[in-house]
This record gives sequence, C-alpha cells and structure tokens, in this order.
Amino acid sequence: MTRLLVGLAAASLALAACSSPTADSPSGSPDGRPTIVAAFYPLEYAARTIGGDSVNVVGLTPPGGEPHDLELSAAQVAEIASADLVLYVKGYQPAVDEAVAQQAADHSLDVSAALPLLTAEHAGEHAGEPADEHAGESATGTDPHIWLDPMNMAAIGTAVTERLSAANAAAAGQYQTNNASLASDMSRLDKAFADGLASCRSRIMVVSHEAFAYLGAAFGLTQVGISGLSPDAEPSPARMRDVADLVTREGITTIYYETLVDPKVAQTLADEAGVASAVLDPIEGLIAGSSDSYPTIMEKNLATLRAGQGCE
Ligand SMILES: [Zn+2]
Repeated sequence: MTRLLVGLAAASLALAACSSPTADSPSGSPDGRPTIVAAFYPLEYAARTIGGDSVNVVGLTPPGGEPHDLELSAAQVAEIASADLVLYVKGYQPAVDEAVAQQAADHSLDVSAALPLLTAEHAGEHAGEPADEHAGESATGTDPHIWLDPMNMAAIGTAVTERLSAANAAAAGQYQTNNASLASDMSRLDKAFADGLASCRSRIMVVSHEAFAYLGAAFGLTQVGISGLSPDAEPSPARMRDVADLVTREGITTIYYETLVDPKVAQTLADEAGVASAVLDPIEGLIAGSSDSYPTIMEKNLATLRAGQGCE
C-alpha cells in the first residue's frame, strides 16, 4: 500500500512537471491531464481509445493533411518538447523523426519498434525510380505503413497501454479495459478481412502509392503501386505503361485511389485501361470534417476490396 502511494505520488509529480501549461505552449493541457502528441491519425485513434478522457490528445497532422511530407511549425515542435508522450512511427515522417530526436528522446514511443517490419525494397521495383527519394524511408529501409494490418493496431494499442500505465499507475486498470476493447475491435476486423478476402478472382491490388504491404501480407494480397512508398512520387511514363500492361494481363477490374492525394494519376490510368476506380483509404489521415474512425474506414476498405478484387 505504501509503495503504491509512493508510486502514484511519483507518477503524478512526473506528469505535473511535464504537463504544466505555459502561455506560449498550446500543448499544455489546462486541466492538468497528461498530453499525448500523436504524429498522425491512426496514432491519435490509439491514444484516444486507450487514454479516454484521462488524457489530452494532440494530433500533429491536421485533417486533410498528407502526413508523409508533414512540416512542423515552431509551435508544434514546442508541443513535442512539452508533451508527456509523443507517439510516432520512425522512418515515416522525417520532420517528426528529427523533432523527436532533438526534443523528445526521453518521452517518445516509436510504435513500430516492437513490430516485425517489412522492407521497402518493393518501392520502385518496376518503375526504375530511386527508392531513396524520401530520406526518412531510405534511412531505415523499412515500410512504415504498419497500421493497415489490424493486428498491428492491436499491438500498437498494447504498447501505448504499457507506456501510459507506467506513467500513471492509478489509471492502469482503465487503460487495460480500453485496450481490451480496442483489441476486440481489431480481432473482429482481422477475421472479417480474412473471411471476406479468402476467395477472390484477383489477388493483385493496383493502388496509388504503396501503403498496403502489411494489409496484403496479412490477407494474401499483393500490391502494385503506381507511385512508390510516398504518394507524391510522380510515376514515370514507363511505370504508367508497366502498370497498364499488368492491368490488362491480369484482368484487373479496379484501380484504387485515395482520399488525401490527387486521384488524377490513378483515374487517368483507369480510364486508359478501361477499368473502374474506387477509393481504398490508406488511413494516413482523416479528410476534413469526417466522422469516420479507423474501424469504420477499414470496414469500407474491406467492402471496396471485395468488390474490386471479385471476392465471393
Ligand atoms: Zn503512405
């Protein structure tokens, strides 16, 4: 009992020391709750789901913003410095990696650290484009899009739960309850994808940018990206021809584009190949005003894939 009280006192002191708001720091939570800075939407979802009302969650990537090439304002760097915890994926957003290394080495969590990562070697494989165009990705050589496998999201939830529980033991029970709910949602999604994609006419997904390797690995689909790992990599004419040939050869009926990136390239390719196009959301961020969440977007993605891949 004594040890518990000492632990709680230490935890609340530590949190209070870190989260005391200052006039020029918008991240300070005025009500004294710990502040979690989440680098992009799926991490906001994990933080809000696990932390509930006991934490103040600040997202770095605004709704409608494309997170790969996020640039941080001075105010956001200050938020990273003053946060109680920063959640990010190393190798995904170079500006966040840099700010975390400089400002948050002792209060950050790379949620990909405990996950088996896929290599990024597929990027540019057909295009002949340099895969090292994006410094953050080439630095690690790994594919950062871990959240598109629901079981990876479950693992992220557990990592966040452990970290929050260590900082605030008084709320650990609530965090674990919330995490159990997240895990159950992710297991349900995992089963729905496995069942829904078990028997499909085509197992090749043609996508705008190569965000779907983890989803593909989990459910037996192979992605072919029109551009590489980053959505702003402009595909070469040779790449466009290669993908168009593949669409014809493999009898692909649908080319997928996404919500936060100009669909022009994917739709041009679909028009030229005479096939349909549909939104497959890499959940890198929400569109502005969206009332969706990770599970509802994943359910839409499953319905889109089942139609586009010709699944029974
Ligand atoms: Zn991406």
